[in-house]
Amino acid sequence: MSDINENNNNETKENKENVVEELDELTYSTKNLKIAIPLMGKFGIPMTPKHYSVWYSYIAKANADLNAFLDKEIKRAGTCSSIISEEAYANYIATEAEKENINIKKGLEGLLNEIYTSLGDTKSGADDFTRYLDSSVTRLNNLEGDEVSAEDVLSVVKSVVKNISHIRKSTDVFSKRLDEANNEIMSLKKQMSKIKIEATQDALTGLLNRRSFDTEIELYVKLKKNFSLIMADLDHFKDINDRYGHRFGDSALKAVCKVIKERIGDNGRVYRYGGEEIAILVPNKNINIAKKLADVCRVNIEKITIVDPISENTLSKMTCSFGVSTFEDKNELALQVIERADHQLYLAKSLGRNRVMPLSL
Ligand code: GH3
Ligand code: MG
Ligand code: MG
Repeated sequence: MSDINENNNNETKENKENVVEELDELTYSTKNLKIAIPLMGKFGIPMTPKHYSVWYSYIAKANADLNAFLDKEIKRAGTCSSIISEEAYANYIATEAEKENINIKKGLEGLLNEIYTSLGDTKSGADDFTRYLDSSVTRLNNLEGDEVSAEDVLSVVKSVVKNISHIRKSTDVFSKRLDEANNEIMSLKKQMSKIKIEATQDALTGLLNRRSFDTEIELYVKLKKNFSLIMADLDHFKDINDRYGHRFGDSALKAVCKVIKERIGDNGRVYRYGGEEIAILVPNKNINIAKKLADVCRVNIEKITIVDPISENTLSKMTCSFGVSTFEDKNELALQVIERADHQLYLAKSLGRNRVMPLSL
């Protein structure tokens, strides 16, 4: 048998094995779901993806802690509520970001409950007071003619004043509680925007992250929006790391990202595409303008000087290469626009680096 045939046979065998594995996996998943769904029905758990994942995992025995938690509850109560299922999701399945969101949601719910209770107390206090005022007015109305003494009137007024101070106290407590709730809401809002930022930003450089890039370029393409794409890659960055160390390399990368972000300004959005590669989406600008922007970045990166405060090493010869493309044919995919910019970046590298490509259109 020739090598090619043998290779083909091996590949076919491998493919068959993969298909068998996939089928096995599918049968296994279906089997688990067939047990999980009736169980959820029995406990009255809503059939949402979140709850599915809990009960699928329970049947598949994928997480011992989750099973122990649910088993304990089922043993105790003879059933399992959707609240417990939610808790199982929050504690054993949710990602860290989701967990934070769940905590914030819980915090807000608790806060609203407290405000609602305080409001109820204040309202019932106010209702009592209204009833009391009504009865006082009736008492005053009943004091008629010559028989009305100053003491009688004074006693009604005194008693009304006493009750006013009571209702004031109750509204003061409520207003204080509202102020506290307001502060708590502000701090929860801050936490939420922090999570949002963490989900879209790159921690080292502060640029938008790769996930944001993927989402946003897909959106531009879907909306058939005019845009250009700049892909940038630091030149010989490995040498910088090798010569000065990784920590110094990090500072150099941060400095380059800062310069690019400043130079692009409101013209576009800057993302860390990966490693020492940066992507820039420039909406509503043609390729010539995008190339000019890239060149402004390039020139200013050349001017960067970094001094390491510990070793006192100085670096002042950093350069970067750029490849630019534009979304012309509105039927093409985001990937094609990326590939064209990548290809131009590759040309920039092979022509000697520290340049913007394409040269002319
Ligand atoms: P070229 O001009 O061809 O792009 O050369 P290069 O050395 O920049 O490219 P190469 O792909 O060989 O190496 C990239 C280097 O970038 C290797 C990797 O360690 C470094 N790098 C990627 N991300 C980081 C980072 O976050 N911090 C530091 N310090 N280095 C990084
Ligand atoms: Mg590089
Ligand atoms: Mg690279």
